[in-house]
Amino acid sequence: MAKYPTMTINLKHLASNYRHVVARCNAQGIAVSGVVKASDDVAKSYAKMANIMLAAGCDDIADSRLDSIIAMRRDGFCGKTMLLRVAMPSELVDLIEHVDISMQSEPLVIAQMQQIAAAADKYHKVILMMDLGDLREGFFDETQLIDCALTVERDYDHIELYGIGTNLSCYGSVKPDVNNLGRLVAIAESIEAKIGRKLAIISGGATTSLPLVYNGTMPPGINHLRIGEGALLARDLIDIWQIDMPELKQDICTLTAEIIEIKDKPTHPIGELFIDAFGYRPKYRDLGIRKRALLALGKRDFGSLEGIVPVDANIKIFGASSDHLIVDITDCQQSLNVGDCIEFNCYYQAMLFCNHSPFVKKCYIEDC
Ligand SMILES: *Cc1c(COP(=O)(O)O)cnc(C)c1O
Repeated sequence: MAKYPTMTINLKHLASNYRHVVARCNAQGIAVSGVVKASDDVAKSYAKMANIMLAAGCDDIADSRLDSIIAMRRDGFCGKTMLLRVAMPSELVDLIEHVDISMQSEPLVIAQMQQIAAAADKYHKVILMMDLGDLREGFFDETQLIDCALTVERDYDHIELYGIGTNLSCYGSVKPDVNNLGRLVAIAESIEAKIGRKLAIISGGATTSLPLVYNGTMPPGINHLRIGEGALLARDLIDIWQIDMPELKQDICTLTAEIIEIKDKPTHPIGELFIDAFGYRPKYRDLGIRKRALLALGKRDFGSLEGIVPVDANIKIFGASSDHLIVDITDCQQSLNVGDCIEFNCYYQAMLFCNHSPFVKKCYIEDC
């Protein structure tokens, strides 16, 4: 079997990043769920990564897919688990069986969960999701969320109202800020006044809420975040949001691909141009003759081109199709030959695609 492409995952640095992020959050009274979406079932890494996150101080381990949580349990993970994506009605029996906490937004589904949990004599905690403008999941009308919270609190004995939460900057690209998260806290307070107790969880989002922790502007009351990318890759906040997070390591996931051809060729295609492998009409810049390396790695492995960046800044990407990546190695200081490898840093999409691709081998650095 081929050795490449390979995703190398540095578990020691993963542990270090989670320890730093959790410490920052805990210092402000914020608990962290570790998000293992990027783990790989083929390599059986769910339980491995989950245990590292737990040891680094995460309260529980979250994933958007029930199958991943079931895989984690199969591999012996015994910590608390959380399902991030609102449940499919068809998966409620397994949800109640395998998961401790879930995020929900449909009152009728929660009513069904109560029946299933009661029949199975199981207990399950729910976090009700409020949509603060990003327009993905969650109640849009806060009175409906409050009514649902009261129903869970008063009428259900196997479903516990654990708290409320929100998700931002995913579909709608809305930034978490003092206003939208402040509104979440206000809604939580009005529920608390009605039920006569504190909610355990007021969950203020994902990685994109971390800037408020780092710059000290998180509204008091937010006491929980779900963190994946911000600790696992530590790329978006540092590279794109320009947040100063010097203690975080950015070399946890490295993608390595093998060179299968090196040739000097022109940079502008020759002939009548129409559409590429994916039906697009790309633009090509004519840079004259360049030394081009063809790599055995393609969009099937990493998704879109923006998600990968050569570690060597002198190497530039020309383009890719499903199974090939073409890079410019003319300015590379190192002399590269067919059979040599080139390394890439990954952004979120590429990391997610690669970690779930059966073609990309996984290599775990446990100790370095
Ligand atoms: C994926 C996900 C997260 C974690 O997102 P990161 O940006 O990786 O921290 C948190 N909450 C929900 C609902 C998610 O689906």
